[in-house]
Amino acid sequence: MLSVKNISFSYSGVLAIDAISFDVKEGEVLALLGESGSGKSTLLKLIYGVFDVDFGLISWKNQEILGPKNKLIAGPEFMKYVTQEFDLMPFTSVSENIGVHLSSFCPLEKKERTDELLDVVGLSKFAAVNIQFLSGGQKQRVALAKALAKAPEIILLDEPFSHIDSFKKRPLRRRIFKYLKSKKIACVVASHDKNDVLSFADNILVIQDGRVLASAPPEVLFKNPQHSSVAAFFSENSCVDGDIYYAHQIKLASKGPVKARVIKSYFKGGKFLVEAAYKGEALFFEHDISIAPGSLVFLSLDKSA
Ligand code: ADP
Ligand code: MG
Repeated sequence: MLSVKNISFSYSGVLAIDAISFDVKEGEVLALLGESGSGKSTLLKLIYGVFDVDFGLISWKNQEILGPKNKLIAGPEFMKYVTQEFDLMPFTSVSENIGVHLSSFCPLEKKERTDELLDVVGLSKFAAVNIQFLSGGQKQRVALAKALAKAPEIILLDEPFSHIDSFKKRPLRRRIFKYLKSKKIACVVASHDKNDVLSFADNILVIQDGRVLASAPPEVLFKNPQHSSVAAFFSENSCVDGDIYYAHQIKLASKGPVKARVIKSYFKGGKFLVEAAYKGEALFFEHDISIAPGSLVFLSLDKSA
């Protein structure tokens, strides 16, 4: 189990991580969800031992993870860390990069392992291509495969799908997380996009300004977000008389507790998202067709929707 106990960390006196605690069991996926600048990358670097914590303790299977004061080269053997920078050798092939840490003692085994990972990240056709000729998204996929090559016990992923277009992202995410589960590799994945993690995380930690704002399994967090800034990661939401509602939980009604004036309708594919003013605040609800600006509407609220 990865145990992070009450850790704090400052960059030259400026607090970046403030008393954060959590556990990740073997084979579990924990998502760090937070806006840019909230402290996700710093947290991953602390777990990998890039910096020393100011307070607190980080351990894997009861063995403390040491920072640079006590360990020259960051990163324990059993842990891999895929940074936002990829860290690849530009003048060698995709295959060579993936296999760089694999033993050449048994070439057939090495090739099988490399081919398996090429398949997971969808780069089989690019095996012989040099890294310098790849797109950002392809490089990101090589970095993922390289980190998985030696089957770590735990992997840290920093915005692992950020350079990959949404079209390729969806199947890749499914394959990566399926692979991690099948090999029982624990994972801490940082993202600002709920789509990266909602279907795959066992637990989500919402981070804001270096603190934990909320922590729960995805469904629990979605159904009961507690804060508007937590709900905002999932969907457009509004605070109506002190309660948080997603746009799909507010509906047009013939009579209703809420009377609002429509400001604008936005086309969202299947539905329209309608912005309205209620008690001087913006409120968002879904509707099948657009509604003319200025219309007065009654709305009903339904949390179970
Ligand atoms: P995230 O990954 O969630 O975008 P970061 O962990 O990169 O957030 O950054 C958290 C905070 O720490 C930000 O305010 C950022 O500006 C600051 N920070 C990050 N790296 C450094 C650094 N090397 N030196 C000083 N401040 C930093
Ligand atoms: Mg970051």
